Amino acid sequence: MEEKTKVFIKKDVLKKILLGNPWIYHNEILKIEGEVSPGDIVNIYDSSKSFVGRGYINPNSKITVRILTRREEEIDKEFFRERILKAWEYRKRLVDIQSCRIVFGEADFLPGLIVDKFEDILVMQTLALGIDRFKKIIVEVLDEIFQPRGIYERNDVPVREIEGLPQIKGFLKGNFDPIIEIEENGLKILVDVENGQKTGYFLDQRENRAALKGLVNGAEVLDVFSYTGSFALHALKYGAEKVIAVDSSGYALELARKNAILNGFSERIKFIEENAFDLLRKFHKEGRNFDVVILDPPAFAKSQKNLENALRGYKEINLRAMKIIRDGGFLITCSCSQHVSPEIFQRVIESASYDANRILRLVEFRYQAKDHPILYAHPESLYLKCGIYQVLRKQ
Ligand code: SAH
Repeated sequence: MEEKTKVFIKKDVLKKILLGNPWIYHNEILKIEGEVSPGDIVNIYDSSKSFVGRGYINPNSKITVRILTRREEEIDKEFFRERILKAWEYRKRLVDIQSCRIVFGEADFLPGLIVDKFEDILVMQTLALGIDRFKKIIVEVLDEIFQPRGIYERNDVPVREIEGLPQIKGFLKGNFDPIIEIEENGLKILVDVENGQKTGYFLDQRENRAALKGLVNGAEVLDVFSYTGSFALHALKYGAEKVIAVDSSGYALELARKNAILNGFSERIKFIEENAFDLLRKFHKEGRNFDVVILDPPAFAKSQKNLENALRGYKEINLRAMKIIRDGGFLITCSCSQHVSPEIFQRVIESASYDANRILRLVEFRYQAKDHPILYAHPESLYLKCGIYQVLRKQ
């Protein structure tokens, strides 16, 4: 068998790797022995030449190596079968597996791989060159384990370009209607795996949507950045009197409208296609008030570089939302930017409450759903924050 390229890491990098962090940055590498070909499997050694693990390399990425295993095992079909079965066992124990995320990349020790299950359809993404090379055998393994009616590829994501991969999407198995009906917390929801965002649906918010229970009975609710209306539908299921769902995407709202009909809620919901920043400002000016406001914006901070701007955006929408919440009402506010830590996010909320002249009480602070596990030594795997606050005027 041909000799694998050897990557030696600096001394202080070993600890994080032993704790489960899979990323080795270019400046954490001491030296490389052998040829470096993007996407290849390499062996990793510590500074005293002991074997640390095996992973894939891409010198064109800042994250030069991503570790697949800390054992001396072959990266072959068996390897992927074992990893995916372990990920599946975890979901079977912890979540409703009718529809769920089966593989959450690095946190399931399969860096760069995402697999979502929507009923009997699987949607996958291979986000790095090293994992994309195994696409065919991963599809075979998924087919053998889950025997799905179909598999769809959503590799139309810009990060693939950095890896030297094309943006593509399409059927990997079967040819089916890309609109799938799933069930979430007892609600019927349509998911468009072909033209929806990311893999079609945000499974990561499932538990946070369920957390609306008890907060919205009889309430007038504003669901901002509603996408296909999932928070709005939950509010209606849990007793909200009226809901307004806002999104800038007409297509998302079209599906949201169909979802409302599917659940028999059309009478109590209205849809507004508008920029959220403008609408919140307008509602405040007009003196419109709500009992509950939900904010679930897209990731404003796409990188560390635009963090400042992103924080201004978060502050602005939160401040505006607090202003239009009735005394004692609730704010459910989310951020899915990986670059915004829970601490930073909470500081932004606090500063917004000061400027809005409101007192906040934290009801609970939540994260992503359990099928998106958080790898303790890999802070990047914690990305979704969801704060539930009671918003009070002078007491
Ligand atoms: N709350 C949703 C997910 C929201 S994803 C759920 O539970 O499924 C973010 C949404 O924000 C997308 O649907 C996107 O179309 C919308 N969006 C992005 N920028 C916006 C803006 N400036 N104003 C209103 N909506 C916006």
